[in-house]
Amino acid sequence: MLPAIEVKHVSKRYGAVHALNDIDLEIHNGEFFALLGPNGAGKTTLISIIAGLSLADTGDVTVMGHHVIKHYQQARLNLGVVPQELVYDPFFTVREILRIQSGYYGIGGNSRWIDEIIERLDLADKADTNLRALSGGMKRRVLVAQALVHKPPVIILDEPTAGVDVELRQTLWDFIKQLNQDGHTIVLTTHYLEEAETLCNRVAMLKQGKIIALNSTKNLISTLASGQSIQLKILPDDLPPALQSLCIAQAHGLYELRIENYAHIEVILSALRGANVQIVEMHLQQPDLEDVFIKLMRKNKESE
Ligand code: ATP
Repeated sequence: MLPAIEVKHVSKRYGAVHALNDIDLEIHNGEFFALLGPNGAGKTTLISIIAGLSLADTGDVTVMGHHVIKHYQQARLNLGVVPQELVYDPFFTVREILRIQSGYYGIGGNSRWIDEIIERLDLADKADTNLRALSGGMKRRVLVAQALVHKPPVIILDEPTAGVDVELRQTLWDFIKQLNQDGHTIVLTTHYLEEAETLCNRVAMLKQGKIIALNSTKNLISTLASGQSIQLKILPDDLPPALQSLCIAQAHGLYELRIENYAHIEVILSALRGANVQIVEMHLQQPDLEDVFIKLMRKNKESE
């Protein structure tokens, strides 16, 4: 099967900045894929190149088999991008802008799908309101709607939930998950790693224009995260000697102890009881994507 997106040897410089450095990436059809990385890693640059909005210095990109430069029109029919920045035309209503957008793609008689998008993104109340009168969160919903108006098989969302309230986040993810279940390929960039962990099957981590990790979310967590631990605040604030070898960190009055499994917690509790130490606070830490992210970024800094 054709990959949804294929990026081959893509590089891009802005003066001295190597925004993308020989990127190779294949995103499979039907994936829910996360493109993660710190500020300035090159995520938006890569998305602009995939969208044909920016030219790579070297390399090739295809969307559903269509070269994004040589077959621009075919490629863009297959792709919907929700941009990071709130760009909008203030003079039209929500419904008008979606009709106009359909026209750009040469799609007539699209009102059923437009109605469905408006409904699913909870924009029905605002469908006949001018964009300038909408709040930031509402404008973001319209950007999502605009990206979906031509029902593209591949959808890229560049930080769609930045500055967005909990309710919209939920509405948006329910809709995007449904689209993914219906067969659409979804690519997401976000700084909310919890979101990426829950939603995405596979993750690429970018740093300074290079992919430093590419794997399934599950594999990344199981191979790179630190494992389970338990954080304890105790009284008196003195860890019994029997537990000192388990201690991996100590900060803000909390001891962090590594645990192998849940049964290990009983051993710790009994050691504390035996030493007459009282527990004031206790947290269980599960390995997560944030852990992997921090570890990889730190590791890369050390090797620079
Ligand atoms: P963020 O998480 O902050 O959105 P990002 O991963 O999307 O970051 P990019 O916006 O792709 O990062 O930027 C990658 C690098 O290229 C940065 O160093 C940025 O300053 C630089 N850059 C991006 N666009 C331009 C431009 N038009 N002119 C000059 N430099 C640019």
